[in-house]
Amino acid sequence: MLNFNFQNPTHIHFGEGTISVIATEIPLNARVLVVYGGGSIKTNGVYQQVIDALAKHTWFEFSGIEPNPTYDTLMKAQEIIKRENIDYLLAVGGGSVIDGAKFIAAAALYEGNSEGNAEGNAEGNSEGDSEVNDPWDILAKQQAVTKALPIGAVLTLPATGSESNGNSVVTRDGNKLPFSSPLVRPLFAVLDPSVTLSLSDRQISNGVVDAFVHTIEQYLTYSVNGKVQDRFSEGLLQTLIEEGPKALLPATKENLEVRANIMWSATMALNGLIGAGVPQDWSTHMIGHELTGAFGIDHARTLSIILPAVMKVRREQKREKLLQYASRVWQINEGDDDARIDQAILLTEQFFQQMQVPIRLSEVDLGSKDIDLLINRLEQHGMTALGEHDDITLAISREILTKAL
Ligand code: NAP
Ligand code: FE
Repeated sequence: MLNFNFQNPTHIHFGEGTISVIATEIPLNARVLVVYGGGSIKTNGVYQQVIDALAKHTWFEFSGIEPNPTYDTLMKAQEIIKRENIDYLLAVGGGSVIDGAKFIAAAALYEGNSEGNAEGNAEGNSEGDSEVNDPWDILAKQQAVTKALPIGAVLTLPATGSESNGNSVVTRDGNKLPFSSPLVRPLFAVLDPSVTLSLSDRQISNGVVDAFVHTIEQYLTYSVNGKVQDRFSEGLLQTLIEEGPKALLPATKENLEVRANIMWSATMALNGLIGAGVPQDWSTHMIGHELTGAFGIDHARTLSIILPAVMKVRREQKREKLLQYASRVWQINEGDDDARIDQAILLTEQFFQQMQVPIRLSEVDLGSKDIDLLINRLEQHGMTALGEHDDITLAISREILTKAL
């Protein structure tokens, strides 16, 4: 196992009817900005539960955070934050709203370019120059976040793990970039599986696939004997394989136990636990971000297209783990090594198909003519050394995209 430090301070409130806890989780003297998306929370009753819980608080609202949240939309929140002296954000929604709240929280207190000081020395950074102080630098130049407003989250779409991690992904002019800071990790998160009943099949599928790929990206690398993490990951993968399809079937889709298991799996997949002390390979996500940034494809649908191709192109580097994955997750124990790996990749693709997501670029009307653009964008975004060995060069990303045709 590799050395690691691990702390996840997000207080999780899990279960039906738990939204009311925000009444006591958020200090009564806070000035709260409730941030949400396009309005699903108004039609499924979540908004009403939130405002009931905030009856004794001073609160304001900011809506319209879109899927794959954009810098332009998020910066609009700064006006109300300044005007109303907001000092607490409550994100109510899926990964996009929670990611968006994280950027809003960091941007509100951003002091400017720290000249690459990753430890974030807040002294002397603010020159009052708007160019120097553009919070986009947090993503584009990976400027350290040194302060952020506190955030609470009410999760409505299990997928990203954003409700209990410090990651956020924001898009500006088609450039979809990630940043990470423990300062934007939500202080608490409410996970009520019943609020997921209003999700469309498409969003359920997206969520299950995103959580599955997060788990794979912290598992399918090389062995460092992280036995505990491997068993956690294999448990999550098996749970998602078993429960995911049930959430699409008429007979079982309303089953709250199914929803609860999916919801908790998605949180556990990306709250830092399974990734502690093991190598990670986020190449599927980084290549996938370019597909969303350039062509607007749903996040999870980019992953279901790219992951099988990563498995195929990197099968030698990942050989040992692919065999473990075949045996422990899919119970494939017959045949020679290559046949077992082929079978595991095929079953992964079939699982994605069962979840009704695409597994090839051609299914989203993209072809070889589009690969140059994607490679250019990877280069522009510095994604030139991906994977657990930092050796997925642009040439290998091209191979992956070609394999995904
Ligand atoms: P999302 O983009 O937050 O939401 C997708 C859609 O689902 C929205 O239209 C939303 O509508 C709707 N929705 C949400 N909850 C609903 C409910 N209970 N009932 C009905 N509709 C509902 O989806 P997501 O997959 O959770 O987030 C994707 C984003 O997260 C991407 O930008 C991705 O890159 C990012 N991401 C972040 C991390 C991380 O670690 N932070 C990891 C992976 C991906 P409304 O807008 O109307 O609410
Ligand atoms: Fe993701």
